[in-house]
Order: sequence, then structure tokens, then C-alpha cells
Amino acid sequence: MNLTLEKRRKVLSSSLSLSYTKPLHIVRGSGQFLYDKNGIKYLDGVNNIQHVGHAHPKISTAAYKQLQILNTNTRYLDQHVLDYAERLLKKLPSKLSVCFFTNSGSESNDLALRLARTYTQSSDTIVLEGAYHGHTESLINVSPYKYKGPGGFTPPKYIHEIPMPDIKRGIYRGSSAEERYLKTLSTKIDLIKSQGKNPIFMFEPFMGCGGQLPLPEKFLNKGHKLIQQSCGISIADEVQTGFGRLGSHYWAFEFFNIEPDIVTLGKSMGNGFPLSAVITTREIANRFDNGMEYFNSFGGNAVSSVVGDTVLKIIAEEGLQENAKDVGQYLKRQLLELKYKNPIIGDIRGEGLFLGVEIVDLKKNKISLPILASNIIDKMRDKCILLSVDGPKKNIIKIKPPLPFNKENADFLVENFYKVLLGL
Ligand code: PMP
Repeated sequence: MNLTLEKRRKVLSSSLSLSYTKPLHIVRGSGQFLYDKNGIKYLDGVNNIQHVGHAHPKISTAAYKQLQILNTNTRYLDQHVLDYAERLLKKLPSKLSVCFFTNSGSESNDLALRLARTYTQSSDTIVLEGAYHGHTESLINVSPYKYKGPGGFTPPKYIHEIPMPDIKRGIYRGSSAEERYLKTLSTKIDLIKSQGKNPIFMFEPFMGCGGQLPLPEKFLNKGHKLIQQSCGISIADEVQTGFGRLGSHYWAFEFFNIEPDIVTLGKSMGNGFPLSAVITTREIANRFDNGMEYFNSFGGNAVSSVVGDTVLKIIAEEGLQENAKDVGQYLKRQLLELKYKNPIIGDIRGEGLFLGVEIVDLKKNKISLPILASNIIDKMRDKCILLSVDGPKKNIIKIKPPLPFNKENADFLVENFYKVLLGL
């Protein structure tokens, strides 16, 4: 009997899930590796939160030092939050000039919706099928990934869902697909405008829970223009994709040559420390300042600011964005080679160290194979490599490791992936 598992069942909610058929008891992490209670070492191919590596000594030192001095809130003047905000803003287009600091991706997206709804005086929000934006009530309402899944519900009328713009597997495919997906967006914009309101469009430029899917370039570029022309507000959720993970760009929205009105950040921002942000324009921030105070007990405290600042420095000092580009390309190339050798690999998607491997039956009209995908990650776990499965059909194997992940790790992953596929 596993006593830890028994205890967990007793004291925690059963709605929390555990990864793998044989759950792992991890006790330590370092760089791109995790260690279980028996000292077994695992290559971490999936923890995108520990962006600069598990237990990075510069982060623990910075947090410890600041905890010994002071950790209050933004009702006092404090240099740390200002220095951090300034450095973070330098990474973004100049129109995005105001930071709100929060403590989770959900909190950021909830605040982003409040900002957008205050600005537009409307709740009408367009979302993509398959999207996940967070766990609060307001966000479950904008997350088809949740409201259409087990225990789901009908979202409020002001939520306007459009199909996931997947040009390979979605409802529209082939050369006219992008235009047709764009039409679904423009139709919703027209509907909202016909009611005398301005639309809010919330999206991840590369969908995470939606299966590591980059949005089609024209769809997002032109769609963003339509939102701007209709006096709407765009919210880019960069919770999964920000901070250089995609290699060639620091933010995913940069792939599309757009400048969103609001950007939300989280996960990797604090390398596991609860730290997130909403960044927007001065105009939107000013409209939100309508007399109701915005206070956040923890958001923007000195310790969080120091941690966030240290993450930015490590990404730069250790060349982690360049590493994501270089190793990501190397890994993707090898996965593509594997695809040509194996009839159950459909699409290889993503950029940098944000990749997805689609598991399908190529002989049977590319039917998705979710059980097989889960079996594969269980078998990879037995080979000490940690991956996960997601996407609307639960058949996309996600690869999004801590950014110190190197070519040797990529080789190890691919070699074992090949062996697992051979043994199926
Ligand atoms: N947005 C996206 C795209 C996410 O993937 C997640 C978490 N998986 C969230 C928001 C919510 O973040 P958190 O779990 O920190 O609340």
C-alpha cells in the first residue's frame, strides 16, 4: 500500500489529478531533471513552469535574501517592483506600458477580462474552441476546454465560441481554411456590433491545452485587425508561451506581427514562485481607474519582484531563448524523421521548446488514438522521461521542458520514443 497516496486521498480533493498510471513521488529537482523518493532521475520534458530549471540557485538565493529584509505590498513605495516592471516592459511593444502584478495565470486572465469589460462596457467575449484560460468562475466561462468537457455546462450568452482554427484536423481544412475560420470570427464580431457593443477577443497565439497548436498566421493577423477596426479589445494569453520558450521570439504574439491590447503572463514568470502579470496600455489602465481601488495583497510584493527580475536575468545570461530555438529546431527535426518512419505519428507542431506530437492512425483516416497516446507517456515515464497528453482529442503528446533542456536530452528523448513506438 502506498501511504502517501492514501493520505493524499484523505486530505486532498479527488478532483485533483495525478499524472501517469503509476504516480510519481518527486522529492527534488535540478535543472531539467527531477528525482523521486528512491533517487531515480527523470528527464523533465513537460514542466514549463520551471522555465529556467528546477531549483535554480540564483532564484532561491534572491528570494531568501529579500525575505530576510522585507516583503510588503504595493501601498508603500518600493524600488524592486519598479525596477522589475521597467525591465519587463522593455521586452514588450511600447504601447504596452502599464503592469498589474498578480499571483497566478487565472488571476491575470480574470483581471484582463475586468479591464477589457470596463473599457468596452460590454461582456461579449469571443473565445476559441478548445481554449483554456484558467480555473476561476469567470475563466471557466471562457474556457471551452472545461465547459465542454466532463462536468461541463452551457456558458453565458455573452460568450461567443468560434471553431478551433486547425487547418489540418479542424472543421475546415486545406487552402481556403484560414479564410473560412476568419469568417467565423468576423461573423461573431458583426453579431456583437449589431447589438451596439464592442467585442473582446481572448486567445492564446499558440494553444497549449488545445494541443500545442499555433494559430494560422493570416487568421490571427487579419482577425486581430478586424477586432481593432471594430473598437474591440484583444487579450493575448501568454501564460504558457511567454519568456522565450518559442525560441525565435520572446512572446508568441510576435509571430503574427500583432500588438495586442492586453497581454497576460504567468507560469514561467516566477519559475514556480506564484507570480503573474497583466500588461496593457495607459488608456485601458486609466479607464479601469474609475474610483474603485485595485488592491492585491501579494501582487507586486518585493520578493515576487526580485524573483521575477532574477528569472529575466537568467534567461538572458544563460542564453535560454537561443537554446530554446536551437534545441527546439534540433528536436523537431528528429521528431519529423520519426514521423516518416511511424504510421501513428500524424502532425509535429509547435516552435522552440513548445512542441506537440499527434498520435493518430494514419491508415484509418487519421483517427485520433488517445489511449495509445496515454500508453506512450506511461511507457516513457518507465524510461524516466516525463511528458503529458492534451488537446481536444487527448492525443497530442506535449513537449515543453525547462529551457536548459539540451541536445543530449533531445537525443535521449527521441531514442526512447522510438523504442517505445517499436514496442507497442
Ligand atoms: N492560461 C493558460 C493558457 C494556461 O495554460 C493556464 C494554466 N494551465 C492558465 C491560463 C491558468 O494559470 P494558473 O494555473 O496559474 O491559474
